[in-house]
Amino acid sequence: MDYAVARRRMVENQIKARNITDEGVLRAMRATPRHLFVDEGYRQHAYSDSTLPIGEKQTISQPFMVAAMTSALELKGGERILEIGTGSGYQTAVLAQLVSRIYTIERIPILASRARRIFDHLRLTNINLKVGDGTIGWKDQAPFNGIIVTAGGPEIPVEFLDQLAVGAPLVVPVGPLDRQVLLRLRRNIDGSFTREELMDCRFVPLIGERGWPNEGQ
Ligand code: SAM
Repeated sequence: MDYAVARRRMVENQIKARNITDEGVLRAMRATPRHLFVDEGYRQHAYSDSTLPIGEKQTISQPFMVAAMTSALELKGGERILEIGTGSGYQTAVLAQLVSRIYTIERIPILASRARRIFDHLRLTNINLKVGDGTIGWKDQAPFNGIIVTAGGPEIPVEFLDQLAVGAPLVVPVGPLDRQVLLRLRRNIDGSFTREELMDCRFVPLIGERGWPNEGQ
């Protein structure tokens, strides 16, 4: 299988065709080898329009969702971004090509170590990855120029709002376990927040102190 051809087709047919126009996002997705972020058995499906299992009951996000969430951050370059839920590391790798530094938190150690190996292989050196509960954010590195959450929680942890710089967006799925709404909040200069509903979505649960309880996940 020619992965480069499959990747170009993915960007044309799944991303551009659904009105994602941010050239930086399209370029980063054309350049990021999604097949390296899934097990060998799934590589032939790596550029299909779907989530795929990555073990530990978790998934790599659908390419369109990665593109939509990255676009929603409205990146200009030079940002410091916090990501909650590293998972396979695919979204992190896309972001790493567009920002100055990305801080990413994963609660499952084996997924974090797998992602770290791929970042090293791809020589992505602007990623700080830690294992832990991302629902409390990463206080000693705050404020961030954007926060992206790739798991769905019942509500927005106050720490995410506290750790946003003025003018910075928080892109986060919120709602019940079986369906969420992707929200974008932005911190205004007077300390208030604007809130937009971007689309319906369905993510794996955000588990932790400010998320869902860990019930054998
Ligand atoms: N964007 C990722 C990708 O493309 O591979 C998808 C991530 S997956 C949908 C969500 C991830 O969030 C899972 O790996 C899960 O373990 C992680 N997660 C859930 N709750 C978390 C928490 N409180 N802190 C950090 N990671 C968490």
